[in-house]
Amino acid sequence: TGGDAALDAFWMPFTANRQFKKSPRLLAKASGMHYWDADGREILDGCAGLWCVNAGHTRPKIVAAIQAQAAELDFAPTFQMGHPLAFELAGQITRIAPAGMGKVFFTNSGSESVETALKMALAYHRVRGEGQRTRLIGRERGYHGVNFGGISVGGIVANRKMFGAMLAGVDHIRHTHDPARNAFSVGQPAHGADFADDLERLCALHDPSTIAAVIVEPIAGSTGVLIPPQGYLQRLREICDRHGILLIFDEVITGFGRTGQPFAAQTFGVTPDLMTVAKGLTNGAVPMGAVIAKDMIHDAFMDGPEHLIEFFHGYTYSAHPLACAAGLATLQTYAEEGLLTRAQQLQGQLAERLHALRDAPNVIDVRNYGLVGGVELAPRPGEPGKRGFEVFLDCYANGVLIRTTGDTIAMSPPLIIEPAQIDQIVDTVRAALGRVA
Ligand code: PMP
Repeated sequence: TGGDAALDAFWMPFTANRQFKKSPRLLAKASGMHYWDADGREILDGCAGLWCVNAGHTRPKIVAAIQAQAAELDFAPTFQMGHPLAFELAGQITRIAPAGMGKVFFTNSGSESVETALKMALAYHRVRGEGQRTRLIGRERGYHGVNFGGISVGGIVANRKMFGAMLAGVDHIRHTHDPARNAFSVGQPAHGADFADDLERLCALHDPSTIAAVIVEPIAGSTGVLIPPQGYLQRLREICDRHGILLIFDEVITGFGRTGQPFAAQTFGVTPDLMTVAKGLTNGAVPMGAVIAKDMIHDAFMDGPEHLIEFFHGYTYSAHPLACAAGLATLQTYAEEGLLTRAQQLQGQLAERLHALRDAPNVIDVRNYGLVGGVELAPRPGEPGKRGFEVFLDCYANGVLIRTTGDTIAMSPPLIIEPAQIDQIVDTVRAALGRVA
């Protein structure tokens, strides 16, 4: 409903949004927990936009900070120069990051953060005289954005199929014995750490001294909300430590309070060497991402003679002043309202309501952690993803935005959500499941 059908004549919505032409859904306004469409209809946001608007929409303090910054300093080149807000924001981020992760590099998106972290990992080994470490290990069903490095280490074969050569020397941890299902919650072995055995297999196969880094999402989000079993991430850390391999957590989704701590690294008690973030960093208001690194990574690049640029990397819009202003106001809002740990208070209610959906039609699994939830539906034979998409459409028509990824319904509401709104989301999903055959 809503809007001028001619609007889509010039815009290229990406292929995953093809249905837009048949039924345009135009969002016109947002505030707090809600969107309003072009017809003025209110829609409860069960996704924080796209896992990013953690403090709720158009928060006045964040809006004011962006407006003021636009009038004060619009752009500052970060080659050979800097500006105070970049240092201030980096400092604030390291204050909530795991201990020892004291350096921040700014990007403009999650995809750029992933490329940056992969390049940092390779360059780190090379400047330390370990140039033979060229392999990167990702994980089956991992999602790390759409740039070439990200799709190479990413575990989604369909995202690679158009492009021929990928990064050389990449391999993937298999984390399930049946790739069609999420073995993390269905039929998992007694000891979750056993899933990490597959990294041992890859180390034996490739010679671990050729591996530069392992990259995983602590909780895989966009491939269906896959929760790691107890001990899994610890075990990855142990294996990496034993072989001198860097561990990268892609926290683009899990960062900034989604799991009940600032980062999932803290929730699961495992500190990586590099962490990629974006989305919640600026509450979705301005594009920005970052790589948070252990000091040793940055120090290794600074060790050599001053005239020698060992590792050339940077974007025109790295540490953009508007993004830095938005980021500072966002982190201040998170702190003032206790949002980075609020998921701890609400996760029990979300878990209870979600798991009650196990008896709803076509539900085959329910998974959750903090304020992220996933409800997996049986795919309709011959029509993978169709049932999930119809549930999305039904919920949207009934005033609730959820996301479907394949046949998994994903929920990740803003962290300001009230208990009654959790009920509204789950009730709307239940009603939709009753209507969608
Ligand atoms: N990594 C993860 C874990 C993500 O979920 C995403 C986006 N959903 C990305 C990277 C890519 O981020 P962006 O779309 O901002 O490039």
